[in-house]
Amino acid sequence: MSCPSAEELSALYDGVVPRDAARALREHLSTCPRCAQEFATLHRLLKVAARPAVPAGLAQRARGLTRSSPPGKSIRPEQRLSRQKPRSLSRR
Ligand SMILES: [Zn+2]
Repeated sequence: MSCPSAEELSALYDGVVPRDAARALREHLSTCPRCAQEFATLHRLLKVAARPAVPAGLAQRARGLTRSSPPGKSIRPEQRLSRQKPRSLSRR
């Protein structure tokens, strides 16, 4: 596979790449240090660009608010397998 373009890498970052293509791209990233470096740079740039201009304290508070809401799904208790020992006949 040839090296993907910057557009392909940013598409991968956005998650708009079809699953098969994304897998191929990620595989390439794991074998090609140059592209991995480029992807990391892209990742950093996009993260900085996407960062909202909100004071850190406020963002942290907002995160705390979302965390306090109860989770939607219930966790099923672990099914316990009762280990039954075969009853041996007590014979003397
Ligand atoms: Zn490459």
